[in-house]
Amino acid sequence: MHEHDVLVIGGGGAGLRAAIAAQEEGADVAIVTKLHPVRSHTGAAEGGINAAIREGDSWDLHAYDTMKGSDYLGDAPAIETLAQDSPEETIQLEHWGMPFSREDDGTVSQRPFGGLSFPRTTYAGAETGHHLLHTMYEQVVKRGIQVYDEWYVSELAVTDEDDPSERTCHGVVGYDIKTGQVEGFKARNGVILATGGLGQVYDHTTNAVANTGDGAAMAYRAGVPLEDMEFIQFHPTTLPSTGVLISEGVRGEGGILYNAEGERFMFEYGYANNDGELASRDVVSRAELTEINEGRGVEDEYVYLDMRHLGEERITDRLENILHLARDFEGVDGLEEPMPVKPGQHYAMGGIETNEHGQTCIDGLYAAGECACVSVHGSNRLGGNALPELIVFGARAGRHAAGTDLGEPEIATGRDEEFEREDGLDTPVDPGAVGGASDAVADGGERTDGSRSSSDARSDGGTAVASADDVVQRAVENQRTRIDRLLNEDSGVQQAELREKLQKSMTQNVNVFRNEEGLKTALEDIREVRERYEDVYVDDPSRTFNTDLIHTIEMQNLLDLAEAITLGALARDEFRGAHWRQEHQERKDDEWLKHTMLAWNDGSPELYYKPVILEGEEDTYEPKVRSY
Ligand SMILES: Cc1cc2nc3c(=O)[nH]c(=O)nc-3n(C[C@H](O)[C@H](O)[C@H](O)COP(=O)(O)OP(=O)(O)OC[C@H]3O[C@@H](n4cnc5c(N)ncnc54)[C@H](O)[C@@H]3O)c2cc1C
Repeated sequence: MHEHDVLVIGGGGAGLRAAIAAQEEGADVAIVTKLHPVRSHTGAAEGGINAAIREGDSWDLHAYDTMKGSDYLGDAPAIETLAQDSPEETIQLEHWGMPFSREDDGTVSQRPFGGLSFPRTTYAGAETGHHLLHTMYEQVVKRGIQVYDEWYVSELAVTDEDDPSERTCHGVVGYDIKTGQVEGFKARNGVILATGGLGQVYDHTTNAVANTGDGAAMAYRAGVPLEDMEFIQFHPTTLPSTGVLISEGVRGEGGILYNAEGERFMFEYGYANNDGELASRDVVSRAELTEINEGRGVEDEYVYLDMRHLGEERITDRLENILHLARDFEGVDGLEEPMPVKPGQHYAMGGIETNEHGQTCIDGLYAAGECACVSVHGSNRLGGNALPELIVFGARAGRHAAGTDLGEPEIATGRDEEFEREDGLDTPVDPGAVGGASDAVADGGERTDGSRSSSDARSDGGTAVASADDVVQRAVENQRTRIDRLLNEDSGVQQAELREKLQKSMTQNVNVFRNEEGLKTALEDIREVRERYEDVYVDDPSRTFNTDLIHTIEMQNLLDLAEAITLGALARDEFRGAHWRQEHQERKDDEWLKHTMLAWNDGSPELYYKPVILEGEEDTYEPKVRSY
């Protein structure tokens, strides 16, 4: 068994920053990651990092823009922490050698981004994430932080008290992708999940194949609630044939959107009379799809993004990477032609419920980055706000896990019974009633992910307390059994068929425009796929680089998260941020100023709500009509 003070699961931006912070506080830290750190999806981030570092700008303006962008569903303490800490964290990156783009006078450049009242997006060309990862990985190497790369974490080693908030996380189980060995990793202080996004729930996404929401799904099954999962961001400018992202930086530099009639539709049809192309992403995505649905799209599928007027010098200086992406993935020369674009899944606003120290309701278990929901983005993330979230909350989680006192958190995790009593559970959906999730518990209490339901896992009548080593070892045995079973089965259904069915249904039914009928269809599809997953098998019996096995394990995570997204979306009968409902065209602040929480209750999803915190350090944020 491997043993460290702090285990960071994931080597992307959040994981690297957390590991560096924990190491700085004196902890023995290791990173366990299924990809080499610099291959993490943070490397695909193009546009930049929001930080109020210039005269005329301030953290409270950044916080206000973020709260407005969130459509008043972000929590003020998280938003204000992001806005206050992001300048220092960004300057720290600069001191570590991050090659930020600069003005002629040597100052760091900043560009405008959607929904920002000040041009505060700091960038390194259109390859900001690539440089961010390399800059921080250098620090990890310099500090001698151990990296277990190409280790897939498939289960958290958590104690089995009935009440999740009494459980403790002692480590994780890792599967060595190179050799097929299953081994335990024990954490003396804490485990930080930094496993990134879940874009593979959809078939048209800017996210990499590795973005399967593993950490969020594992935490959910271990007893941590998922928060605000229905809020999925669809980015307005993705290439139609692949989903590859064309950065918001193009519009930030002055790029223009046209429909098939050559009209600048953001103004022509009044979608955003002030900010036009630089309105918030949810607004622009809906505008594009409305154009397409009303017959003004190109080939009924996309619109044009034009940057030719910016001139070759500016484009090659600030957006060179965009030229490569458009040429390599769409065969279009961005200097000569407009680029075809349409909305695609991009980001999960929801995730593992945490407070501003990265803590979950399970002792010793933390989360940071895209897999977490602290909540900064509420119902809609502003472009350029995810990278600062990684460094600000990654660093805080690392410090806290290493034992640093960060004070009393303002954001509570766990259930608010008084709020629930007053609120009553007024939702049109009974999450357990549609069947399904409980089907994931097979005979003998063993789930398809190999973990056991809490009541079944306690073989001693609930009195003895298992040692940390026992908890890790028991999880290791679960995973050995699960993997042996998947590899030894010689017939059944293959994950690729199930994945395709799930992704297509989610893209069809739980997209930018949503209605009750589509959401119910998606839920039926998810539960049908879940039943068929009981018969899943892996054709390739090898233990060396068996990607089919990994994808089969990931499939369980996609299923759990797809169900969480759809249940949350079905229950929320209002239109807020990225969540548009055909039957419910207004934001309903009287009823819905609350976070959707989904808990895994011994095999069935349980839905409840907790209040949004709008009280800031100085003022309370008053919900207003959101126009751009
Ligand atoms: C194309 C694109 C462009 C973007 N551009 C911007 C931008 O300009 N500005 C901005 O603010 N935001 C941007 N975003 C959003 C932002 O980049 C992401 O939200 C962020 O990088 C996610 O970082 P992360 O550290 O949480 O996850 P990732 O960088 O995805 O890292 C996840 C890590 O977890 C590991 N992992 C996952 N599962 C397991 C497992 N089971 N076992 C072991 N390891 C595991 C992976 O190996 C990886 O190392 C962009 C997103 C995309 C997709």
